[in-house]
Amino acid sequence: MPETFKAILVSRDAEKKQSVVVTDLTEADLMEGDVTVAVEATTVNYKDGLAISGKAPVIRRWPLVPGIDFAGTVISSSHADWRKGDKVILNGWGVGETHFGAYAERARVKGDWLVPLPQGMSPHDAMAIGTAGYTAMLCVIALERHGIVPDRGPVVVTGAAGGVGSVAVSILSSLGYHVIASTGRSAESPYLIDLGAAEVISREELAQPAKPLAKERWAGGVDAVGSHTLANVLSMTSYGGAVAACGLAGGMDLPASVAPFILRGVCLLGIDSVMAPKAVRMEAWRRIGTDLDLQKLASLSTTIGFDGIIDAAHDIVDGKIRGRVVVDM
Ligand code: NDP
Repeated sequence: MPETFKAILVSRDAEKKQSVVVTDLTEADLMEGDVTVAVEATTVNYKDGLAISGKAPVIRRWPLVPGIDFAGTVISSSHADWRKGDKVILNGWGVGETHFGAYAERARVKGDWLVPLPQGMSPHDAMAIGTAGYTAMLCVIALERHGIVPDRGPVVVTGAAGGVGSVAVSILSSLGYHVIASTGRSAESPYLIDLGAAEVISREELAQPAKPLAKERWAGGVDAVGSHTLANVLSMTSYGGAVAACGLAGGMDLPASVAPFILRGVCLLGIDSVMAPKAVRMEAWRRIGTDLDLQKLASLSTTIGFDGIIDAAHDIVDGKIRGRVVVDM
């Protein structure tokens, strides 16, 4: 009898009605790849919430094991870069969307998709960062490349109490930025101040339809929300500033005007973590190793077991999750 392992499987019937079950799989059920990994830790990202709840068409292959990121140990490999026993991280590349993902005790993927677990970081730590944290780092790097250094003025982070937001607040404050955290949960102000926010503002301030230009309030921002929020953030960005846009928690639209771009030279920096080239990922994970305080990381994450994944997935789309959720398998 082949060895079985636990997995979450999302299926769809002829009427396209989605169902989610916990089941047993064998390695023969896994999809093609040249590296098999024992998944030791994973996480619940907003995208995983959308996939499991079916609220957005994240899953594009049925049935599918969801879960867009994991950290673990290589069990077998025919890829030149990886050997049995290597510690690895995976983020994105369509895993958990079109390729069997992290919510199983085993994953088989392409070796080209993997990056090494940074020295001194456990699989649990790596998933406390997860795709949300790695995306936050990509946003920070994009702002720096645009010359948005701490001396240029404050930076705003929207969706601040969420995963991307919490890590962005933490990294930016460690780097010396004056961070303005925008949240819809005022009860999370002490948490955000603890992470390093200098000011906390209400989500409502940025939720109304934006004027083409408004009073300049910040030199840059990290936006996880989209829609009116991003339009307001742009309209309040000072001359020559930049905003890194990575999320759509408030909507996929962008009801903005070109005024910030053509009258203030503001730049909108698009951030994608899923297909980011390996060199960009390696740089982001290296910077996470140096710029993110692991103690703060512990304070922004909650740990659950495999059995808690489905509930956490529903909670994250309902905006009930603070910071990051780590799943110890
Ligand atoms: P979380 O759910 O952890 O955080 C999202 C936060 O956005 C919430 O905590 C909440 O923050 C705020 N929010 C939620 N709903 C609304 C709303 N209707 N209006 C305004 N604000 C809202 O998700 P993640 O941090 O994991 O992801 C954030 C976004 O980034 C998602 O859209 C996700 O898909 C995207 N993402 C994109 C990536 C990329 O490669 N571009 C990679 C990773 C994530 P608060 O309570 O503080 O207001």
